[in-house]
Amino acid sequence: MKKLSVLLILGLLLPLYACAAAEPLRVDFYDVGKADAMLITTPAGSHILIDTGTNKNGKDLVKRFQEEGIGPIDLMIITHYDKDHVGGADKIIEDVGVRHVVMPVYDKESKQYEQFVEAIGEHAIPSTQLITAHETTLTVDGVTLRISAAHKSSYGKDEENDFSLCVRMTHGNTRFLFPGDAETPRQRELIAEGDLACDVLKVPYHGRLTDASQDFLSAAAPQIAFIPDSEDDPSHELIHAMLTALGAKIHSAQQGDLTVLSDGARVWTE
Ligand SMILES: [Zn+2]
Repeated sequence: MKKLSVLLILGLLLPLYACAAAEPLRVDFYDVGKADAMLITTPAGSHILIDTGTNKNGKDLVKRFQEEGIGPIDLMIITHYDKDHVGGADKIIEDVGVRHVVMPVYDKESKQYEQFVEAIGEHAIPSTQLITAHETTLTVDGVTLRISAAHKSSYGKDEENDFSLCVRMTHGNTRFLFPGDAETPRQRELIAEGDLACDVLKVPYHGRLTDASQDFLSAAAPQIAFIPDSEDDPSHELIHAMLTALGAKIHSAQQGDLTVLSDGARVWTE
């Protein structure tokens, strides 16, 4: 894998601030059922959204962001184009506003993906498609985001989860890991890349068991683990057992939203 950061960047760069932060970094893991949507608010108040849930989740998020005075979103990262990750993106672009999008490089035939691409075009959103087997590091208000793309352009049948971008976020000495829906091949790539140890993990693939789960979770060894599952589609009990054995405190979306804060030295839940 090339270590070089190569991007197709169209348009503006993200604002960079060097100021020290009194406010903690905040990460909201939204309860959107078996879907992903996480909002990062930096100490200086920039907003980074990782995935957007389903089409319906997108409408709910728009309402919530408008009520809370959140927007525009400074950076939207779409890990992959399954409807439970990209489904709400068009609504958020249209009704909340987005300054920059980072996404993987493959195409998908789906209504949700088409609406997302159309919204980017209609609103002329500067967008970055991260090339296969490359990675980039962005810094927003002193918060570092290392984003890596899948190593291969094909993983066979049902391959799309393995195209998931992985985001490693560092704030001071605290680390958050967002691996999308990585299944066994992509989890093994990430283990090979290294740098997975984290304080807070968004558990990949909605907490389903994979052949790489034990190795992946051991490499991450989080203190706090958020699992985006639902009553109808619960996460695997062995994932819970592995995380508990590693000393992680588990929060399932079945318990509602989770907010995690970081002052750069430690993390805690609100
Ligand atoms: Zn998913």
